[in-house]
Amino acid sequence: MSGALIPVHPIEPLAGAVQVAPAPTPETRLVDTFDRPLHDLRLSVTDRCNFRCVYCMPKEVFGKDFAFMPRDEMLSFEEMTRLARISVAHGVEKIRLTGGEPLLRKGLEELIEMLAALRTPAGRPVDIALTTNGSGLSLKAQALKDAGLKRVTVSLDSLDDATFRAMNDVNFPVARILAGLEAAHAVGLGPIKINMVVKRGQNDQDIVNMARHFKGTPYILRFIEFMDVGTSNGWDMGAVLPSSEVRDRIHAELPLEEMAPNYTGETSRRWRYQDGGGEIGLISSVTQSFCNTCSRARVSTDGKLFTCLFASEGHDLRELLRNGSSDEEISAAMGAVWRQRTDRASQLRSAQTGAVRSPGGKRIEMSYIGG
Ligand code: SAM
Ligand code: SF4
Ligand code: SF4
Repeated sequence: MSGALIPVHPIEPLAGAVQVAPAPTPETRLVDTFDRPLHDLRLSVTDRCNFRCVYCMPKEVFGKDFAFMPRDEMLSFEEMTRLARISVAHGVEKIRLTGGEPLLRKGLEELIEMLAALRTPAGRPVDIALTTNGSGLSLKAQALKDAGLKRVTVSLDSLDDATFRAMNDVNFPVARILAGLEAAHAVGLGPIKINMVVKRGQNDQDIVNMARHFKGTPYILRFIEFMDVGTSNGWDMGAVLPSSEVRDRIHAELPLEEMAPNYTGETSRRWRYQDGGGEIGLISSVTQSFCNTCSRARVSTDGKLFTCLFASEGHDLRELLRNGSSDEEISAAMGAVWRQRTDRASQLRSAQTGAVRSPGGKRIEMSYIGG
């Protein structure tokens, strides 16, 4: 990975608590081969999780003997912040902490504090968000807010306790997630989004219940199509309930109308209740690709840079972080990867199976790359 001939932003030395990234010039504006900018960074802070969601970390694969990442292979908070600072100089304005379950990473608040000190070239704070299964939110919401977290997205696949316990597969009750949501709302970690992965035959009977429950509340419910990420979740097209069907089922009981997107490249299509009861989101990751506007990079817990959820290999940034490379060298390496990016895996789904054919046939698991 070398980018010696590619112009890079000089990275400013640390100046006090707040770190402002230099403004890009036309020469340093970073876009990939399809002219997509780098806007969004997902940092996976752990590959571990206290849930075993059937569509993500099924027990049969992620059992007692599963070898999770050793501690010394994980990036430290300082290393993550350094990559984040370099990414912000490249145009990143949004950082999402994910995993695994990010709240399992000890001292996560310290990382949030460090990220909250970053400033975009325009001098704005970076938008810092967190995706969590919500199991630890009741305890941690206040500390996360105090550290500078702006908002959370909470995964919740059903309000029916038996269905939810079966989907998280560790017998975790719905009531504790609802308590976590309330705690997050009470400290102002909003707007709070709720992610429901819809698996046909498992929780699709709960779609309208979920919509009804969260209608008229401050929470924005989003329905995600079950995706073929990784190789362990037993995905098949038959278990995917297309977003269009989700919309039709809700619309039949609670009439909806489409809304304009918040910004170009928004992965979620927005629909609102005609009676003013708020909005929902539909994320059609399988049936309607959004590769055209995908501006997301992911960094795994061990410091590999992935430019697509379906990439088979990442680019090792940890080696550069630990071998004495300068910020400029790391910046050049990241820039070179992004400039060469050609990913559009979802757009290239197989017409026969609906599945993505990953390069080299290898697939990275969602819990490792960060959802
Ligand atoms: N543990 C956290 C959580 O569950 O919110 C963060 C990591 S999780 C991998 C991030 C998101 O990916 C969650 O909303 C989860 O529901 C979603 N996800 C995981 N596997 C998926 C799959 N096969 N298809 C669609 N979404 C999936
Ligand atoms: Fe854990 Fe999140 Fe994956 Fe569920 S979706 S197993 S909570 S990482
Ligand atoms: Fe982005 Fe890859 Fe998903 Fe397409 S398939 S939207 S390029 S992550």
